[in-house]
Amino acid sequence: PRTFDAAALRRDFPILQQEVNGHPLVYLDNAATTQKPEAVIEAIAHYYRHDNANVHRGAHALSDRATAAFEQARETVSRFINSPEACQVIWVRGTTEAINLVAHSWGRSNLGPGDKVLVSWLEHHSDIVPWQLVCAATGAEVVPIPITPEGDIDMAALDTLLDERVKLVAVNHVSNALGTVNPVQEIAAKAHAVGARILVDGAQATAHCPVDVQALDCDFYAFSGHKLYGPTGIGALWGRRELLDAMPPFLGGGEMIETVSFEGTTFNTLPFKFEAGTPNIADAIGLATAIDYLGGIDMTAAAEHELGLLAQSLELAKGVEGLRRIGAPKESVGIFSFVLDGVHPSDLGMLLDQQGIAVRTGHHCTQPLMAHYQVPGTVRASYALYNTADDVERLFAGIHKAVRLFR
Ligand code: PMP
Repeated sequence: PRTFDAAALRRDFPILQQEVNGHPLVYLDNAATTQKPEAVIEAIAHYYRHDNANVHRGAHALSDRATAAFEQARETVSRFINSPEACQVIWVRGTTEAINLVAHSWGRSNLGPGDKVLVSWLEHHSDIVPWQLVCAATGAEVVPIPITPEGDIDMAALDTLLDERVKLVAVNHVSNALGTVNPVQEIAAKAHAVGARILVDGAQATAHCPVDVQALDCDFYAFSGHKLYGPTGIGALWGRRELLDAMPPFLGGGEMIETVSFEGTTFNTLPFKFEAGTPNIADAIGLATAIDYLGGIDMTAAAEHELGLLAQSLELAKGVEGLRRIGAPKESVGIFSFVLDGVHPSDLGMLLDQQGIAVRTGHHCTQPLMAHYQVPGTVRASYALYNTADDVERLFAGIHKAVRLFR
C-alpha cells in the first residue's frame, strides 16, 4: 500500500472539492454515509455505459459481462471479510435489509415462546426493531444487554443474561453513536457456550477495522456499502454456510427458484435462494471498486489517523466550557459524540452548516441509548480517512462561535 496521506486521498473524492455556504466543505458526517472516490463513480458510470444487462439469464455478450462483473464483485466482498466461500455472501440493500432477512428467515424458524434475543443498549434501531417484530410474531422476547457508563457492553451483565433460553445475541461491531468497538470475538464465544447464535451489525466497522468473519467466529455479519466509500442501495449479509442452507427464503420471485409449478416450487442454491428479483448490479460493482480502492491504502494507518483526529478533538474540547463527550469507550473508532450546555444539538448543527461544516445531530437511530444517557440527542463528528487536522480545527472554531452566539 502507498504511504498514508489524508490530504492527498481527499483529492480522490470530487464531492469534497466544493464550497458550502461560502466555505470549503468540511464533511464530518461519515458515520451516516461516506463520500465516494472517483474510481467508484467511474465504475458505476462505466457499467451503465458499456456492460448493462440483466444477470444470470442472458444468452448474449452484455449479459455475460454483467454477470461476470457482478459475481466477481461477490468474490471481492468475500475476500474482504475472509469468507470461506463466496456463496455465503448475500447481496442486500444494506445492513437494515440484512438484519431483516435474518430476523424473518432464521428468526421465524428458530424462535418460539420463552426464547430470548439479547440486544445491546448500543444498538441502532435496525438491530432492535426487526427483533421486536419477529419476537412479537413468535412469542420470543427481546432482552437488552446493559452497558457501562463509558458506553462499553457490560460483559459481566451479559454473563448473567446468557442461559439456554437465549437463541441469539445481536450486537454491533462498532457503535454508530459512541464509536465503541465491541469485543465481538469474546461475545461470540460466550453466546456459543450456551448454544446461542450471534449476529454482528458491522455497518460502522468495515471502514475502520479489519473484518474477518472466521476469526470473529460470528454466525451472521451484516454491512452496508455506503459506509465503506461505496454506493447506497447495496450491502451484504454473510452467514455460516449450514445456517444459510437450512434457512427458508426471505423474498420469493425470480432468480431464487430452481423450478416453479403449482404443485410446488423448489429453491435455488446459495446465494441465489436469498436474492429474489433483479439485483442491484451496478452498485455491487461499485462496492467492489470501493474495496479495491481501499486495498491500495494502508487502512491500519487510516484508522490510526482517524483516532488521532479523535484525540485532537478531545484535547480541543477541554477548552470549551460545558462541552460533555457522551461515552468514553475503552476501544473506539474516530467518532466524537457530545453535547454543549445551553446549546441545542440541532442549533449547533445549523450554525456549523452555515460555516460549511457537516455533522449529524439528533438521536442517531439509537433512542434507547440516548435515553440511557438522558440526552435528547448529541452532536456527532465522525471521521473518515480523508479528514484532516484542519477539519477538526474548523469544527472547534465553529463550536466556539456557537458558544459566543447562544450563551
Ligand atoms: N447499524 C448501524 C450501527 C448503523 O450505523 C447503521 C446506519 N446508520 C445501520 C445499522 C443501518 O444501515 P443502513 O441504513 O445502511 O441499512
